[in-house]
Amino acid sequence: MKNIFILFISTTTISLILLTYIIYKQNSFNNHPLSSKVLVKIKQKEFRIKKLIMQKYNQNISIPIIISSKMQNSLFGMAIYDKDNIRIVLNKDRFQESEQYMIDYVLPHEYAHVLMFIFNDFTKKNSGHSKRWQNICLQLEGKKCDRFVKDNDILMGKIGTIY
Ligand SMILES: [Zn+2]
Repeated sequence: MKNIFILFISTTTISLILLTYIIYKQNSFNNHPLSSKVLVKIKQKEFRIKKLIMQKYNQNISIPIIISSKMQNSLFGMAIYDKDNIRIVLNKDRFQESEQYMIDYVLPHEYAHVLMFIFNDFTKKNSGHSKRWQNICLQLEGKKCDRFVKDNDILMGKIGTIY
């Protein structure tokens, strides 16, 4: 009887510690910027893509990449064109479960939208995922340059600072 009681107490204590740890981890993810390890990976990919853009399109561009936790949950990233101000926004929450996907799939995808803006191609066909966009995405080593995505991930016009 005593043994069962000890077992019960131990299990409960371990569960509580585990639960506290999970909640703590979730909170620290929500309240802190991405780890420097992830930020370095983003920087490296950015560097690689900028090099490709220079080689293939002879454009020397520098676009701010904003990590936001205010994005609609279904979106991984976004390309924003606000007059002459172009930026990429990445959904911070998505890094938690799909870090590599964000870097290998989402970044080239959004940079391809950025180049379309730079070429003054504001097509709304397939929400901006035209054949030309697809070609650019592939040139930027995008892993999946799908033209038939259901999410509308480009914003054009006067946006202000929502992210
Ligand atoms: Zn897109």
